[in-house]
Amino acid sequence: MQVKIYENHWLFKLPYIKEYTAITLAPYILVRDKIDEDTLFHENVHIQQIEKLGITRFYITYILWFVVNLLKYRNVIDAYSRIPFEEEAYRLTKEHFKK
Ligand SMILES: [Zn+2]
Repeated sequence: MQVKIYENHWLFKLPYIKEYTAITLAPYILVRDKIDEDTLFHENVHIQQIEKLGITRFYITYILWFVVNLLKYRNVIDAYSRIPFEEEAYRLTKEHFKK
């Protein structure tokens, strides 16, 4: 997939969205400020997940996990961070940079 990165993206001016550092909307990676190594690695994990599952299946599964987690944890941060795609991306990023 040919990925294009947009830094300082206007989307992050929106409430709620501005809490995030970057969002992958394949084939684009939208970044709030300037992208750093960790964020680039994390978002690239999502690109690989998307390439594996296909764009439609990835986003449908992602949103379903978010909803299920929201009902379970009643908390947006947990609902987001416990999506298996996010858990994998955070774990691989941590392992890669040996933090
Ligand atoms: Zn992520």
